[in-house]
Amino acid sequence: MNRHAFGRRVPRRGQTSKAFHARSVVWSNPRYLASRVFSAGNTGPVWTILHYLKYGLPFKLGLKRASCNGGDVKRINLLAVEHCTNRCRQCSTSSPFAAKRTYAAAAFVPWLDLMMREGIKFGHISITGGEPFLHPDLPGFIDDLQARYPKKQTGLTTNFFWANEEKIRYYAPKLKSLSKMLISKYPNTVAKIGGEQRFGSLVELLRTLCPQIEITIADGSHLIEWQLHPDERSPKAHCCTSDCYVLRADGKISHCAVGVGLEHRPEFRQIAQESKDALYDLGRGTSGFLSWVNKYPFDLCFHCTLWRGVRTPWKSESPM
Ligand code: SF4
Ligand code: SF4
Repeated sequence: MNRHAFGRRVPRRGQTSKAFHARSVVWSNPRYLASRVFSAGNTGPVWTILHYLKYGLPFKLGLKRASCNGGDVKRINLLAVEHCTNRCRQCSTSSPFAAKRTYAAAAFVPWLDLMMREGIKFGHISITGGEPFLHPDLPGFIDDLQARYPKKQTGLTTNFFWANEEKIRYYAPKLKSLSKMLISKYPNTVAKIGGEQRFGSLVELLRTLCPQIEITIADGSHLIEWQLHPDERSPKAHCCTSDCYVLRADGKISHCAVGVGLEHRPEFRQIAQESKDALYDLGRGTSGFLSWVNKYPFDLCFHCTLWRGVRTPWKSESPM
């Protein structure tokens, strides 16, 4: 899962590229314009300035980030698959170091039911990992989720490693309950698939066969660097992944993408074990859950560098 990249809008099915651009670059859509300007630079001074304006300045001014679309939490991400086909250096969820483990939708139901029973508002459930398309029954997982939570939007993230015409035609009718898909576009997947043009045409095929799915492409050419350090240093900006709540099958939910997989990294295990805020244990109920949600920076942030927003070109970890 790449929670470091920023989503890039693309024309919807049936919308000409001209109409899309005419609609997109209107001054009446300042949020969209801001997001386009923000994604203009990958690294260097432009990125640094834009990152400061989006994350550093509001933090300095004491402004909270509004990212939950009127709910308590915008989205609950389910860690359905721990491992991945990729070994991205800087993977926020530490998936390259995880064991091969997958979970059924039923494993998450007690925790999602608890949150709903306790009135915690969220509108969107996303299946994530690791790589969700490694799940032995991803369509069944999606259907089970939609059947149980018909009022929630169901989405997923993928690195698109599986994409070819045959697979897309196989999956398309099985993804009928899905409403959102975030495709992270990494250089190695683009090369494997056969280049930019082929990648784009496969996305178009999927969009054509699954018009109900809102498909977003995230640029994976760069990821945001992060490390944990044993000493405490105060964060000086908001963090782009601080509201990426990832629910594990054991009922523990992380505040950010980094918090969910630290146990796979022996070098970070002690810091993770000493953190009280990296994971919230729903097994103990939901008392204090919302104040935990609203906390930033939390204790792990004082040991982490991701809030700096330093982008680095995508690289693969060396094989284990
Ligand atoms: S594609 Fe890369 S960033 Fe995403 S889960 Fe896999 S290893 Fe991590
Ligand atoms: S800075 Fe805080 S919110 Fe951001 S990744 Fe690190 S621990 Fe998570």
